[in-house]
This record gives sequence, structure tokens and C-alpha cells, in this order.
Amino acid sequence: MIDKYSIKLLIGTDYPILEKIRCAERLFNVYGRELLSDKAIMSLLEIYRQTIQQSWIQMKSTGVIAECTDCAANDGGSCCGKGVEDHFDVALLLINLLMGCRFPSEPWDETGCWFLGKRGCGISARHVICVNYICKRLYSKLEKSGLRLLQEKIVLETDAGFALEESIKKWLRNKGL
Ligand code: SF4
Ligand code: SF4
Repeated sequence: MIDKYSIKLLIGTDYPILEKIRCAERLFNVYGRELLSDKAIMSLLEIYRQTIQQSWIQMKSTGVIAECTDCAANDGGSCCGKGVEDHFDVALLLINLLMGCRFPSEPWDETGCWFLGKRGCGISARHVICVNYICKRLYSKLEKSGLRLLQEKIVLETDAGFALEESIKKWLRNKGL
């Protein structure tokens, strides 16, 4: 059963991350199978998955992944800090569960984002603030044409994520949540 407390979590982000994770997991346990057999949701999920993949391909070819790996290994990679997880709402967490991701019960690095793992970000559906973030180091070191192409992919990814999130929220509202 999903209670009214959970419904509030669907709307806002102002709750501790563990509560939002537990709420998303409850929704996934109750409705996950049904959501994954809904053709409209599945189609949006697949489009989103493809746009995420295209962003990663572009990040690799532009040199972002190599630069960030070096930054994380040698300069402490300052961008996935503690607190970014607070921007996630339950719907985005639920999308990650639908994409096969699972959340840690505690952060791997207590100074880092909850979803940061030993090998970097541990989730598929990242928040728009993560996806959009291109730091000064990347701007100064990487080809502008590659970064422009990356920004085009990022727009497609965030648009697809938004469409899916809105559709899932509507789906849940139709369930009376
Ligand atoms: S985005 Fe910038 S700060 Fe973050 S890991 Fe990459 S190079 Fe480092
Ligand atoms: S990219 Fe992943 S690990 Fe980094 S801040 Fe965003 S969600 Fe957290």
C-alpha cells in the first residue's frame, strides 16, 4: 500500500534522500511490473535510454570521460559532492529503478553524492544539474565543437527524461496517488 506520506514525496524534493529512496522502492515494488508493461511508458523509457547512451558516446569522443577520470584520480574530482542527491525527487529515483539501477543504503564516500561509487556515477537517470554540468576545466581543455555536439545530446537527454518523468507522474496520479 502507498500512503499519503509517499504521495507528498512524489511532488517535492524536500525530504531526506533515504526516505525518497524508500518511497521510490515501495512504488517500484507495487507498480514496477505494471509500469514496465505499459507501452507508452516503455517507449519513452527506451527513447530516454537511447539519448543517455548517445550523451555518453559523445562524452567519450569529446574527451570528457578521460578528463573526468584524470580529475577524479589526481585532483579529487570536485563535482559529485554531497548534497547533489537532494535535488532528486521520487519520480526520478523510480525511473532509475525501472532502468535496472539499485541504490546504495549509504554513500560510498561520505563527502560525495549518495550515488557516487568507486567507478563514478552509479545511476543511469542523472539529474539535469549533473547532465548539464561542464566545468571550467572541460571548457578550457576540450574542443569547442565537441562540447557543442555534447550540449545538443544533453538537450535531447534532458527532454526525453522530462517527458518520461511527466508521463510517470501522470500514470501514478491516475492510480489515485
Ligand atoms: S566535470 Fe570537471 S570537476 Fe567534475 S570530474 Fe570532470 S573535470 Fe573534474
Ligand atoms: S553525476 Fe551521479 S554521482 Fe555525480 S552528482 Fe550526479 S547523480 Fe551524483
